[in-house]
Amino acid sequence: MNAISTVPERAIDAFHPPRRILLGPGPSDLHPRVMAALGQGVIGYLDPVFVGMMEELKTLLRYAFQTANPLTFPLSGPGSVGMETCFVNLVEPGDKVVVCRNGVFGGRMIENVERSGGRAVIVEEEWGRPIDPQKLEDALRAHPDARIVAFVHAETSTGAQSDAATLCRIAREHGCLTIVDAVTSLGGTPVKVDEWGADATYSASQKCLSCTPGLAPVTFSTAAIDKVRARKTKVQSWFMDLTLVLDYWGATQRTYHHTAPGNSLYGLHEALRLLAEEGLENAWSRHRHHHHALKAGLEALGLEFIVPEAARLPQMNAVRVPAGVDDLTVRRALLQDHAVEIGAGLGPLAGKVWRVGLMGYSAREENVFAALGALEQVLSQAGHKTVPGATAAAAAAHRAYAEQHLITAG
Ligand SMILES: *Cc1c(COP(=O)(O)O)cnc(C)c1O
Repeated sequence: MNAISTVPERAIDAFHPPRRILLGPGPSDLHPRVMAALGQGVIGYLDPVFVGMMEELKTLLRYAFQTANPLTFPLSGPGSVGMETCFVNLVEPGDKVVVCRNGVFGGRMIENVERSGGRAVIVEEEWGRPIDPQKLEDALRAHPDARIVAFVHAETSTGAQSDAATLCRIAREHGCLTIVDAVTSLGGTPVKVDEWGADATYSASQKCLSCTPGLAPVTFSTAAIDKVRARKTKVQSWFMDLTLVLDYWGATQRTYHHTAPGNSLYGLHEALRLLAEEGLENAWSRHRHHHHALKAGLEALGLEFIVPEAARLPQMNAVRVPAGVDDLTVRRALLQDHAVEIGAGLGPLAGKVWRVGLMGYSAREENVFAALGALEQVLSQAGHKTVPGATAAAAAAHRAYAEQHLITAG
C-alpha cells in the first residue's frame, strides 16, 4: 500500500500541555530561565563550544554535590539510569552488597544488585523511618565479606531522610564502598559527598534541581573508579559501562560514545547556575522555610505526617489520607479544578498517603498557598470532617511564615 494511507484522516493539533503547579515527587516546576535555555539551537556534541559548556556543567555539579571528585558528570537518562550505572559498574558477579531498604527505591537497589550478579544482604527498616545505623553495623558484623553498602539518602516514597554521614562512616569502617541515592536530596537538603566519603552518588535532573527529566548527575570517588578498573569481567551493559562513557565525558581528547541530549544539558547548566547564584545553604533553608508553612497548613487541615519530625524531608511531605476520604477523588479534583499535582502513595502506601512535594523552583510561597487553598476546598467537598472552616490552613501558614520572619529578624 502507499504511504498516504498511514496519514491520519483528521488533522492532529499541536500539543500544548495545560499549566500545572507541580507539587508531587518530581518533576518540579521549571524556572523561566531554564525553559529559555532548553529552546536554544542544536549544536554538535563535539563542537568546541558545546565541550566548553560540558566542562562548566561538571564544575557546577561538583559544587552541587560538594565534592572535588574529577569524575562528576550527568548521565544521559533518568535517575534510574544513575542508579543502574552505579550498580552495574561497581557490583561484580559474586559481590556481596548490603542494601538498606526503607521504601520503594531501596527495593529497586536490591533488584539492581541481583541483576548485576551480586548477592544482596538486606537491612530492613520500617517505611517512613530513617535507616537505623545500628542495623547496618550488625549486618556488616554478620557479613564481613560484604564489599558494598547501598542506601537511599532521601526516600521519596515516604519523605524520610537517613543519616548519610553515619551510614557512610560505618560502611568505611568495615572496608565497604558506598552507593548513595541522592535523587531527591540534591539541591533540597545537604548532600556533602566528600564530607560523607560517599563513593558512588547519583541524582536526577527533575527533582530539586528543577530541570526537565532525563539526566542523571553522578559522582565517583577514586576508590570507586579503582574498583571498576580492577573488574575481572566486563560491565554487562555497553551503554552504562563507565570506562566507555568516560572517553566522551572524561577524556581531554573526546570521542563519540552516544549523541548527548544537548538541549537538556543546556537546561541543566542553567538550573545549576541558578542554584549557584542562590547558594546551596540558601536553597536548603528555602526548602525548610516553605516546608514549615506547608506543615502548619496541612496540620490545620487535620492531616498527619507519616515520618517522625526529626527525619522529615522538607521537599517531600507525606501525610495520611484521612479515614473516609477517597484518595483518587481528591487528587483528581486537585488536578482538574485547581491545576495542582500531588503524589500518590506507592507500594504498601498506595491509597493511604499523599505526597506533597516542594522541590526546587516549586518551593515557593505562592505554591504553598495554592496547595493549601485547593486542599481545603477539595477535602471539604470530599466530606472530610475535621476541616475547621475556610482559610484556616492559609491562616496557619501565614502565622508560620510570620514566626519564621521574627526568628530571622530577631
Ligand atoms: C525519582 C527517584 C528515582 C528515579 O528517578 P527517575 O528519574 O524517575 O528514573 C530514584 N530514586 C529516588 C529516591 C527517586 O526519588
